[in-house]
Amino acid sequence: MKLTAVAALAIILPMPVAAQDIAAEVGKQMPSLMKIYDDFHANPELSFMEVRSAGILAAEARGLGFSVAEKVGGTGIVAVMENGPGPVVLVRADMDALPVTEQTGLPGASKVRVTTKEGVETGVMHACGHDTHMTAWVGVARLMAAHKDRWSGTLVMIGQPAEERGAGARMMLEDGLYTRFPKPDYALAFHDAAQFPAGMIGYTPGYALANVDSVDILVKGVGGHGAYPQTTKDPIVLASRIVTALQTLVAREVSPLDSAVVTVGSFHAGAKHNIIPDEARLQLTVRSYTDEVRTHLLDGIARIAKGEAIAAGLPDDKMPEVTVDRNEFTPSTYNTPELTRDMAEFLTGRFGAARVHQLPPVMGGEDFGRFSRDDKDIQSLIFWVGGVPQAEFDAAKKEGRTLPSLHSPFWAPDAHAVVSTATEALTAMAMKLMPKG
Ligand SMILES: [Zn+2]
Ligand SMILES: [Zn+2]
Repeated sequence: MKLTAVAALAIILPMPVAAQDIAAEVGKQMPSLMKIYDDFHANPELSFMEVRSAGILAAEARGLGFSVAEKVGGTGIVAVMENGPGPVVLVRADMDALPVTEQTGLPGASKVRVTTKEGVETGVMHACGHDTHMTAWVGVARLMAAHKDRWSGTLVMIGQPAEERGAGARMMLEDGLYTRFPKPDYALAFHDAAQFPAGMIGYTPGYALANVDSVDILVKGVGGHGAYPQTTKDPIVLASRIVTALQTLVAREVSPLDSAVVTVGSFHAGAKHNIIPDEARLQLTVRSYTDEVRTHLLDGIARIAKGEAIAAGLPDDKMPEVTVDRNEFTPSTYNTPELTRDMAEFLTGRFGAARVHQLPPVMGGEDFGRFSRDDKDIQSLIFWVGGVPQAEFDAAKKEGRTLPSLHSPFWAPDAHAVVSTATEALTAMAMKLMPKG
């Protein structure tokens, strides 16, 4: 309904009001925003520890006249600006960095080191680019606050913790994001992208990112001397069979027209050449789009692990233990198709067809999907903003070189291009969704 009204308005006013103004004002903000970016980049914080970052966002929003709540779902912040009748638009930035030691060699590189809760000493880096997300968030907040005369509605801007642990969105929702604060009609976000040139915008209608489950399998055996295997139940051989049999889930049980991944990323067992150990441990990442495929994969993993253990002659009390970490589950992200197409058309009009592209979905995960997952009345869209410096992109293509991905210690986005593009796109979209009058 609202989209129809917006579309009708667009016919009367074919060019968004002061479209050029927004771009020019973003340009004026960029020197200040880049200082903020440099600060975020040099001071990354791990998931659940985003206290400093959240404080910067909260102070900025408060100074602009938002009413701000802190510690929502851990370190999360919610900044609300009510500006007359109209829809509620949520704009989200995630705040956490990763346990990665930066190796870009750039002058502004992170030198932060911490000891994690697990006791591992590590560097910390914004290797997923959430520093660009927070910086653009500040840009959007500034532009929306400076131009309240151009929109009518309620803007809810959130700084979300712990995206990398798949927990932050859930924690904010459980802490009353939609009951203590206005519930959105629209939810918007972007993510920087490490495979596209800087300033390119990518969108995917429908499923865009995958369900992500982390599964642990403890394979039990009966240990003994490596020279007398007949006296043992070898958990390494059993775990190997399980790994191989798991491949048939995707190859033979899921429809070729559905998407699924079962990857065993970790296999640990044993301590010495001539000892058959008591156990082996496997760690899996399991990905899908639909709930049906997800359930089939998780059930199938438990079935195969048990079935192989029975085949190996393990007694009932030594069946494998399969654990799905529900706290780290990231649900798939679904971009509302109508909103996505509408906004893609709008962005194409603003940035030109050369910069706006439809992209295929990926099996990566993002907990942004949670903000609309359980409520079909909320339309949502997360889009990509390319961050690879153009010269680097061209050189890599020419030389057939692979570019560093997100989470790489070498990921060095053209932050200026990402922040300016995202700030302009999100501001223009929020104003479009909350038209004046
Ligand atoms: Zn990430
Ligand atoms: Zn990310």
